[in-house]
Parts: sequence; structure tokens; C-alpha cells
Amino acid sequence: MRIAVVGGGVIGLACAWRLAGDGHAVMLFDGAREAREASWAAAGMLAPHHEATADDAVWRLGTASLARWPAFAAALGADLDVSFSGGLLPLITAADQPVIDAKQRFLTAKGWASTWLDRHELSQREPALHAAGALLVPGGRVDPRRLTKALRHACAARHVDLRYGEAVSEILRGGLVAGDSSSPEKKSGTEHRCDLTVLANGAWTPALAQLAGIALEGEPVKGQLLRFDVADGTLRHFIHCHHAYLVPRAGAGVVVGSTMVWSGFDKTPDDDAIAELAAQARRLLPALRDAPISETWTGLRPRLRTGMPVLQRVRDDLIIATGHFRNGILLTPITADAIAELAGGAACGVDVSAYRL
Ligand SMILES: Cc1cc2nc3c(=O)[nH]c(=O)nc-3n(C[C@H](O)[C@H](O)[C@H](O)COP(=O)(O)OP(=O)(O)OC[C@H]3O[C@@H](n4cnc5c(N)ncnc54)[C@H](O)[C@@H]3O)c2cc1C
Repeated sequence: MRIAVVGGGVIGLACAWRLAGDGHAVMLFDGAREAREASWAAAGMLAPHHEATADDAVWRLGTASLARWPAFAAALGADLDVSFSGGLLPLITAADQPVIDAKQRFLTAKGWASTWLDRHELSQREPALHAAGALLVPGGRVDPRRLTKALRHACAARHVDLRYGEAVSEILRGGLVAGDSSSPEKKSGTEHRCDLTVLANGAWTPALAQLAGIALEGEPVKGQLLRFDVADGTLRHFIHCHHAYLVPRAGAGVVVGSTMVWSGFDKTPDDDAIAELAAQARRLLPALRDAPISETWTGLRPRLRTGMPVLQRVRDDLIIATGHFRNGILLTPITADAIAELAGGAACGVDVSAYRL
């Protein structure tokens, strides 16, 4: 089949790569020359358990994807800066204890091992963390910028026709219209025929779906992040709690996030949020006290009204793969497999019908 993928973030790239691996002729369109949206902005935690409170469809998809991550990373065969050593849920105040206890009960009931580390054990595993103890929860982390780069190379190696700088303006029956987003003359666009289109353009998917007559309600959720410039090894695991999250990145310090702001497509940074996140991070990790903040940025999480992703063949010639909200990096491998199944490939092993409009 001839397949067009819209969106060059991790979701579009992974779908394109997977579909090309199944023998399809794939084109990928992204309006930007360098995709720097949610996938570029993400912290990179592979953490289905940290925010889960129940055995719901999002948690099930997340755990299925986490299980696929090691093979996915190995298949990309690149220097991703990926680790599966788990994440910590620290005990900072007395109010954290019931949350930690409930998390451990939930994971145990579902057959996932988690380990309580008392102050002494924690000081061996994560010496710089200032906490009375922590629950070590299965999970991982990856540098999302390296992941995006690796997926782009992997797509090129499978002869995906990568069309960055070409924004899609219309979804047709059996095709789409795309134009050079930097050139006013070419903006009107060129028609490209295909058997199947995959809409995977993150927070912008609802608008494009609407042009195809499909009602998809969603609104981006802005997140503020920053990065401290510290030596590798300052932090060994990612830390996730309601105060802030901290994620180590090889050769790139420690990333700290994040806020949740509903302000449409506005990406303006928030100086107060940066100061508050930095203060929280320094309380958790006193080693950051004198470390410079080397970068601050914001990103738009693609959230649909239900808070769930949609992975669905909505028409013979149209698939939607969006709404990954806070977990798109984690959900990249399972999404690629699910979309390959919807395109007629092998069964992906999860019930894709749970992720419909
Ligand atoms: C602050 C923050 C922290 C996060 N942390 C994590 C985390 O720790 N772990 C995790 O798993 N997830 C995290 N996420 C979520 C994750 O980043 C997203 O769910 C995921 O990146 C979504 O990927 P995507 O490819 O769907 O969208 P995007 O990466 O946003 O890509 C969409 C692409 O579509 C392109 N596009 C838009 N419109 C058009 C058009 N008309 N034509 C052509 N191209 C178009 C854009 O240029 C863009 O490149 C975080 C997100 C944010 C913002």
C-alpha cells in the first residue's frame, strides 16, 4: 500500500518506520523543517505506574508499551540514552506515605514488583536525593530528542519519503494536500494520492481531522520544563512526585518538570513556574543548589477530551493516532504496532478497540 503519515514527532515517525518495515511505501509530512513540538519537549520518562491509580485502559496500554521498549530501543540500534532501572517515588512529607502505600498495594495486586528503600538503602542507590525513603517502581527513561533523531534516521534507512517543511492543509478521499510551509507561492499545496493516511500530528490532529469531517475534541496542555547543568551520575534514577519530576540525561544534566496549563496553542514560558520548579528540584536534590539552569522550554501535550489516545481506522483510507497526552514517549512502541495492525499487519497483542473515538 501507499501510505501517507502526517506528523514527524515520535508517533508519526514510529508509525512510518513500522509501516515501512511491513513493506508499505510510506511518505511522512511535517510542517516544520525540524520537528520541535511535544516529542522534542518531553522529559522522557517511561513511567506507566507513577501516575496510575487504577487498572484502566491508559495504564494497560502503558504497561504493554513499557514491555516492548527494550526490543524497540535495540531495533533502533542507536545511541538513545535509554535506561530501564526504574523510577523513584520519594517520601518527602508525611502526606506522601499513604500515596506510596496505595501505589505499592496496587502494583503488588497487579503482579508488578516494587521495592521500598529505607533511608539507608536509598542513600546507597541514590545518594544525592533528599528523602526519608522511596519506592522503586518499574519504568525507564529515554532522551526524547535522541529518540526523534534515531527514528528519523531509521525511517530514512527504510526509504520513508521524509517531507519535512511540508504542512498538510487538506485530507481528501484517497490522499491529501501538502505545501511548502516556508514558501507563500507553494503554500496552496500539491495533491498526493495514497491508499491510507495516518493522522499523527499531535495537538494539531483535531483541526485536521475536522477538515476530513471527523469530530475529535481535544485541547493542548502546556508544560514548562528546565534543565540543570550537572555532571552525569548526580542523579541515577528518575524521580517522580507531586512536587516535581527530575530526569537525568546523559551528557545533558537533569531535566525538571512540569506544569499543566490549559492556554490553547500559546507556548509562552512562565518565569514564576521556572522559579518554583527550580526551588522544588533543589529541595529534592541539594546538589543542584549551585548548578546553573542551562535551558528552559515549554511544550504542548496532545490531549483529547477523554484523556485517552485514539488509535482507530476511522475510514477505509484514514487512521487516527493521537491524544498521547503525558505518555507519548512511553506509548511510542505500542502505538506503532497498533497502527501496523490497523493497516492490515500482524495483531499487536492489545485490544486496539479500547482506543476509539
Ligand atoms: C512538557 C512535556 C513533558 C512530557 N513528558 C513526557 C514523559 O516524560 N514521558 C512521556 O511518555 N511523554 C511525555 N510527554 C508527552 C509526549 O511528549 C507526547 O505525548 C508525544 O511527544 C506526542 O507525540 P506526537 O508525535 O503525537 O506529537 P508531536 O511531537 O507534537 O508532533 C506533532 C508533529 O506534527 C506536526 N504537524 C502539526 N500540524 C501539521 C500539519 N498540518 N501538517 C504536517 N505536520 C503537522 C508538528 O510540526 C509536529 O512536529 C511530555 C510532553 C510535554 C509537553
